[in-house]
Amino acid sequence: MAGKQFDQDFDGIDEGRIRREKAKARQLRNSRWWKEKIAQGRCYYCGREVAPADLTMDHVVPLARGGLSSKNNLVPCCKECNNDKKSRLTLEWQGYD
Ligand SMILES: [Zn+2]
Repeated sequence: MAGKQFDQDFDGIDEGRIRREKAKARQLRNSRWWKEKIAQGRCYYCGREVAPADLTMDHVVPLARGGLSSKNNLVPCCKECNNDKKSRLTLEWQGYD
């Protein structure tokens, strides 16, 4: 997975914390809360209508930047925005909050 490789590009991150947060995110991805969120079929970043199956779970504040797998830090995101964000993160992701 690209995400895994991405995390390893950072030095000095707390890998234990990130592992825990990833496990939490995985749990939330199976939750009713998340299913209702993607059922709305909209990307948080670009606002386009996207089929729920094509929405990915994204951390608004990335785990590598101290973000948490909490409901207010997890948003549905289309694949384009997800890729776009990952490629830009090494510079600085501006976000839309
Ligand atoms: Zn998008």
